[in-house]
Amino acid sequence: MKQEDYITKDKDYIWHSMKPYSPESTMIAEKAMGSWVTDHNGKRYLDAMSGLWCVNVGYGRTELAEAAFEQLKEMAYFPLSQSHKPAIKLGEKLNEMLEDEYVIFFSNSGSEANETAFKIARQYHQQKGEYGRYKFISRYRAYHGNSMGALAATGQAQRKYKYEPLAPGFIHVAPPDLYRSSDEPDCKPAELQSVQDIDRVMTWELSETIAGVIMEPIITGGGVIVPPDGYMVGVKEVCEKHGALLIVDEVICGFGRTGKPFGFMNYGIKPDIITMAKGITSAYLPLSATAVKKEIYEAFKGSEEYDYLRHVNTFGGNPAACALALKNIEIMERENLYNRSKELGDYLKHSLSTALEEHPFVGNIRGRGLLLGIELVKDKTSKEPLEASLVNKVISACKQKGLIIGKNGATVAGFNNVLTLAPPLNIEEEDLEFIIQTLTMELHAL
Ligand code: PMP
Repeated sequence: MKQEDYITKDKDYIWHSMKPYSPESTMIAEKAMGSWVTDHNGKRYLDAMSGLWCVNVGYGRTELAEAAFEQLKEMAYFPLSQSHKPAIKLGEKLNEMLEDEYVIFFSNSGSEANETAFKIARQYHQQKGEYGRYKFISRYRAYHGNSMGALAATGQAQRKYKYEPLAPGFIHVAPPDLYRSSDEPDCKPAELQSVQDIDRVMTWELSETIAGVIMEPIITGGGVIVPPDGYMVGVKEVCEKHGALLIVDEVICGFGRTGKPFGFMNYGIKPDIITMAKGITSAYLPLSATAVKKEIYEAFKGSEEYDYLRHVNTFGGNPAACALALKNIEIMERENLYNRSKELGDYLKHSLSTALEEHPFVGNIRGRGLLLGIELVKDKTSKEPLEASLVNKVISACKQKGLIIGKNGATVAGFNNVLTLAPPLNIEEEDLEFIIQTLTMELHAL
């Protein structure tokens, strides 16, 4: 069959997310190896967006396929209402990586890991006799998932308004945005406006109604928003002051994307709850986890039936997915991919900043590790976002040249102006040069 025939069938049978059907933008991917994906016609594309699906160790790792295959032969499935060795080994490994005592609840997606965190936080307060604590504070621009609670936590109105009412009890605050807000990179935590906002909201809403705060270390889907250094320390202090839990969403930042095993490790805090998903298996199989500080878990340990966590799923902690995840983490450690992410990310940011310094539309280049955002503006003084047609033009031109990049920032229409780069952490250095050259060329061609 020809590629066009697949595209016709795709139109008939597949409902894609987030976009109307378009034959030009439909790519029938067939094979993938390293950082490269090949379509049905044999055209190769460097997938510099694969980090948003968290293919952190790159495509085509037979070791990962073998780990899953061996486990499927040994024992394909057993529920975690009992237990099995791959889940136990992975729980132990995650605990070691998190550098503190956490207990792990496994599920299947980032959305589900966040839903689990919300339920655990609410029930935890109840276990302690704090019955009124049900509200969560999250940030505008952040994405936390597609289910009714995770979407309620999401701070991107256009993803939500057609599905209201969502789960009640979610309040949004503005994230720090060093490019556009009054926070300064060298502020003390207590002086940061965006930390004070959370403190005030908790006071005004009444501390005794707040269950927790959820945030990514770096907002990824909302435009790669890197916080000032003291921000997360400040938020943790405010949470402690008001008796709220801090949930950190590591769905994208986790597993090396920001140059450390987990994104929060860049910011000197220990979250109460950590959610993680696709990066745990480099997206080879569905698996997610909610890691909960031991003392929170202990609060559920009464002997009465009402002390149980009343939350269950069928596939969470699937043995093959756990076996594959262990192998994935082994590869990241063996190949030193956390450091590689930092070093290559610094190099990429520096090279692009130098090449694009004078570009009239490049307002800001930011990120950590191999997670970079390039904010495009109409002019550097007003910082007004560049029109979508020009942002899309760069993305399409790069794709024509065989480079897949993305865009983010989707708070409201018109703000989708941050080009996003997140290649695999083991990207070859010459492929990094291909990204720099292609993107620079297409931006200069605007
Ligand atoms: N949290 C964050 C930060 C995400 O970026 C995403 C999706 N990319 C999710 C949660 C939801 O994950 P999933 O698509 O696996 O439900």
